[in-house]
Amino acid sequence: MPQKYGQNFLIDKNIANNIVKAANLTKQDEVLEIGPGRGILTKIIQPQVKYLTAVEIDNNLFHKLSNYIALNNIKNTKIINGDFIGYNIPTTKFKIISNLPYNIGTAIIQKILPLKNWTCAILMLQKDVSRRLIAHFKTKKYGYISIFTSYYAESKILFDVSPKCFSPQPKVVSSVIKLINKNQKQPEPLFFEFVKHFFSMRRKTILNCLASSKYLESEKKRALQIINACNLDPFLRPENLSIADFFYLTNEVKKSTICRL
Ligand code: SAM
Repeated sequence: MPQKYGQNFLIDKNIANNIVKAANLTKQDEVLEIGPGRGILTKIIQPQVKYLTAVEIDNNLFHKLSNYIALNNIKNTKIINGDFIGYNIPTTKFKIISNLPYNIGTAIIQKILPLKNWTCAILMLQKDVSRRLIAHFKTKKYGYISIFTSYYAESKILFDVSPKCFSPQPKVVSSVIKLINKNQKQPEPLFFEFVKHFFSMRRKTILNCLASSKYLESEKKRALQIINACNLDPFLRPENLSIADFFYLTNEVKKSTICRL
């Protein structure tokens, strides 16, 4: 049976210390932890920072950790009971540390990355997902989430973590990654819409992907003109397009749509 809320608790203290160490914490830092669970990371982070906010969905775990905070008279930590997906993130600058609940890892990443006020994030997720996040174009793992991540952040894999370091043990190897905010402005909404559309048909040629988008309404001739204007081969697959190519395409589609109005 799958674990409720992706609850695979880290039990290896060395790994926990290495995750926290990667955030280079100082007494000036505010930290957001997603899914503190039994608090293995929380208890290491708390003494090193100015303020820690941790958001935990599970009532039981929330109460246990809140009791620990109260009993130990800890003043710089707040545990919030709720779903991080609906959580209103504060506007002050903060670092993020999380052993992510795997079932909603990419949804959480998509919520945080576009924000301006996080500076660095140390995240543990499934190894395969981590490789997709950092994948470069012309590779099999390259897709929407790779472009989304590289648009908003510098990213690198720090280390892999064996299933033996958790209880219960997950079926797959995990990885810890570090993201640094590039502080990008929001792109034209069409950009990510296009990237998503193209990768939803990743085995098709970019000509077919473009022609089938709602902006082209099956007009293959116009799709070809747009692709030629971008100096791209219409028979390439989406995985061969760099982030810059997707920007050229978006701009050309916009230009061609405006010309027709
Ligand atoms: N940080 C702990 C550790 O390292 O052992 C727990 C990590 S466990 C992989 C994920 C945690 O996220 C669990 O405590 C789970 O209850 C919590 N969680 C799952 N979905 C959540 C959500 N939507 N919002 C907040 N917490 C969530």
